[in-house]
Amino acid sequence: MTVLLGCIADDFTGATDLANNLVRAGMRVVQTIGVPAGPLAAEVDAVVVALKSRTIAPADAVAQSLAALRWLQAEGARQIYFKYCSTFDSTPEGNIGPVTEALMDALATDFTIATPAFPDNKRTVFKGYLFAGEVLLNESGMQNHPLTPMTDANLVRVLQTQTRRKVGLIDHAVVARGAQAIEERIAQLKAEGIGIAIVDAVSNDDLLRLGPALAQMPLVTAGSGVAIGLPSNFGIAPSSAASALPAASGLQAVVSGSCSLATNRQAQHFIASGRPALAIDPLRIAAGVDVVAEALAWAAPLVESGPVLVYSTAESGAVKSVQGRLGAPEAGAMVERTIAAIARGLVAHGVRQLVVAGGETSGACVQALGIAQMQIGPQIDPGVPWCHASAAAAGGEGLHIALKSGNFGTDDFFAKAFTVP
Ligand code: ADP
Repeated sequence: MTVLLGCIADDFTGATDLANNLVRAGMRVVQTIGVPAGPLAAEVDAVVVALKSRTIAPADAVAQSLAALRWLQAEGARQIYFKYCSTFDSTPEGNIGPVTEALMDALATDFTIATPAFPDNKRTVFKGYLFAGEVLLNESGMQNHPLTPMTDANLVRVLQTQTRRKVGLIDHAVVARGAQAIEERIAQLKAEGIGIAIVDAVSNDDLLRLGPALAQMPLVTAGSGVAIGLPSNFGIAPSSAASALPAASGLQAVVSGSCSLATNRQAQHFIASGRPALAIDPLRIAAGVDVVAEALAWAAPLVESGPVLVYSTAESGAVKSVQGRLGAPEAGAMVERTIAAIARGLVAHGVRQLVVAGGETSGACVQALGIAQMQIGPQIDPGVPWCHASAAAAGGEGLHIALKSGNFGTDDFFAKAFTVP
């Protein structure tokens, strides 16, 4: 058994998003939490190693990514895919450039592509400029991101500040002409000494035209969009068998530590539909109240008759006020620990279908639940599939879990998730 596609993702929910696209294109996929200690147990077509390397020091990101590469090579991976955010989240130091370069060196390859295009989620690249929805990246709100402010939408320029290799462009006029034109352009760029090419893509058709041109490339770097065009290179076609998971059973719950706009709407929708919901107040956690025990005592009788929601989700004014009193990282870490302990308690109580909202929150929960690998199942909404995992907190039993990054999902997501088979 060999893995066809070995993927390295720079954050947790991003890994799931990529895995979801591969499953929809017909691959059986396992996502691992960090680099596994031993070989893979399941038989799959692709593995996504989820790192948390987006905003750490470049040298650490490189070291972790190379460790993931070595493990994937030991599993026989025929092609490597480095996955980053569809808004190209990075700083002038990295980590997209340094990690790409290190992987190219390790794979002894002198050319790769880079494109965060993901048209299904309204991320498009044209003439090398990244659009988020209707606007350029640097007008999308990302220019104010606390960790990775994106003040330039020109990805050729952005990536060039992060790498010693020359960065070029495969523009839309070429992509529109199909795989052969793309391959000719790649040959031309290589001859000009270009090492990494940003690729334009404004539609899924563009990504599907790009796919065949990447068949022989040892390394692909991209957001999750490019993944839709790769499985067919290995003779794999979409099939519902790829997303088959064991039947779901057991109690149902949602925990949310995301304060994104979409999550706020989703929490409000769940509450308005009359379902049981409990808000967690960060100031009470800070005051030493045993909020975890309170939440578990609240949930125990209610969860018997349907899904419950425990949330710290709040609007930006309330979050800023808490951050002002406790400090932003301190408040974040404290809330993450609390939500994760509640998730663990709910699973110990018998919850076997769990939705987690929030990227960082998901990382904390998966760690607290003792999950090392997840099989990727059917999609609930773009970027968010149900997964199945063996969890220490469930006494080693199977747990269905969905990890929703902040701005993903429709307003009725928290109730709808439990209706997806
Ligand atoms: P998203 O995917 O929406 O960005 P994350 O879980 O990645 O969600 O990040 C949300 C962060 O905000 C986490 O660190 C979380 O602990 C923190 N947080 C959640 N609720 C609150 C709150 N009410 N006040 C302050 N910080 C909060």
